[in-house]
Amino acid sequence: MMTPTRTPRRFTVPDRATSLINGVYATPAADAFGLPVVYPATEEVVSTLCEADAAEVDAAVRAARRAFDSGPWPRLGVDARKDILYRIRDTLRSHTEELAFLECLNAGLPMVRVREQIGRAARNFEFFAEVASTLKGETYTGLEGYLTFVTREPKGVGALIAPWNAPIALASMRVATCIAFGNTCVLKPSEYTPLSVLRMVELFHEAGLPPGVVNVVNGRGSVTGVALVSHPGIDMVGFTGGTRTGAAIMAAAGRNLKPCILELGGKSANIIHPSADLDRALDGALAGIYSNNGQQCLAGSRILVHRSVADGFIARFVERARRIRIGDPMDPATELGPLAFAGHLERVLGYVDVARQEGATLLTGGRRAPGFDRGFYLEPTAVLARDNASRVCQEEIFGPFATFLVYDSLDEAIAMANDSPFGLVAYVWVGDVDVVMRASRELRAGTVWVNTTMVRELRAPFGGYKQSGVGRDGATSSVEFFTELKTTTIPVGPVPLPRLGAGS
Ligand code: NAD
Repeated sequence: MMTPTRTPRRFTVPDRATSLINGVYATPAADAFGLPVVYPATEEVVSTLCEADAAEVDAAVRAARRAFDSGPWPRLGVDARKDILYRIRDTLRSHTEELAFLECLNAGLPMVRVREQIGRAARNFEFFAEVASTLKGETYTGLEGYLTFVTREPKGVGALIAPWNAPIALASMRVATCIAFGNTCVLKPSEYTPLSVLRMVELFHEAGLPPGVVNVVNGRGSVTGVALVSHPGIDMVGFTGGTRTGAAIMAAAGRNLKPCILELGGKSANIIHPSADLDRALDGALAGIYSNNGQQCLAGSRILVHRSVADGFIARFVERARRIRIGDPMDPATELGPLAFAGHLERVLGYVDVARQEGATLLTGGRRAPGFDRGFYLEPTAVLARDNASRVCQEEIFGPFATFLVYDSLDEAIAMANDSPFGLVAYVWVGDVDVVMRASRELRAGTVWVNTTMVRELRAPFGGYKQSGVGRDGATSSVEFFTELKTTTIPVGPVPLPRLGAGS
């Protein structure tokens, strides 16, 4: 199939992506480093990112600092803040088509998927507005003669860093959890995907968010990201991205004693138990690895199948994988679009060689999708690994690349699932309630999904064990991270005071 070299522009695409500081686009320095912004389906350069250097990051942090230290946002009554957050929700919803177009143009994600993600972004603002409006304090009267009360206050300026695999959904999560409690922030989207996030932040301002509350800096992690997380003017770091980057960020933030919340990578097990409804398990296994173009932290990328059902299950999986509709992500019928950028396609393809060298069996795919003369398309790929110690079982590949393993007993399946440096989520397809309870108890993962694909319950904590993260998002957990506790103590009657220097 020929892919078009120029994509029809249904909405305005800015020629350049610069920083957005205090609600105004920055004028980049004449010698600002420029990076092409590429549509992964056609390889067309659709815009240029102007990288923010340390001075521009400093201006953004100062703007966020001013908005926090003396601006209206942290001082607004909770209802007034909620009104603005609700207007943000409504504005995002009414711009779904535009945001979805930009998201698709930037990340190459299928249109059907990105529309859902814009809905999710809008919901994030609504949800955390509600959480913030129900914050409670504590009082203590146990100390004789004194009243002590405990209040929650916004923590300050957040440095928020987002990845490219679901730019709007993940950036909105970081921003909503931060600003709903009265904090301000500087957001750095991935250098691969600045466009949709910038437009989203413009829309925040159209919805009435005061300038300086959300500022955006664009650029590579090694320049803009480093300057942001090591800036002394920030109070906390919220990061979603790769595990190695998370470790570097935590080390940089640690030098200034800034707390971090980190949502990192995964290599999640998807256990197919013989008692499962295998038709549903098949749908779940395919969606678990091939949705979002295979680029999702939550992917069920290690599929563990019981030997008694393995042959039939794997054969049906392969047959369906071969029928997945690959194509133009703007086409609502497309199920699998291109990978996000050229280097990532090369990286994922590299794992096909790794699998071969490790003696894995290539079940399907393993090459650039035929028929596409442009774009970073990869066929849905699946391999049968020799054992769980192999690299294709231990490393996050982050593409449409499923790795199968066969097990004989539940003990073995649980041991294999847990034998991983990661612990983000786990899936179990099962019809036996005892197995459900054992899996829930013994799997070392932040979330266990039983007989379902990924479902995000915003009220519940979400985050990873082991190298999949530090901290949790969610109602209670986000309050704990993004607010400070303050204890105030006051006498309720005359209490003796020491009277130094008052003696005769
Ligand atoms: P990445 O770690 O390469 O980059 C993420 C962000 O960090 C980008 O904005 C990048 O510019 C920035 N960055 C890189 N180095 C930095 C540094 N030293 N200092 C400051 N910022 C820096 O990740 P990615 O490739 O964009 O995203 C894919 C990864 O994200 C995968 O590992 C995936 O599993 C993970 N992820 C996790 C979750 C989750 O909720 N757990 C969600 C989505 C993605």
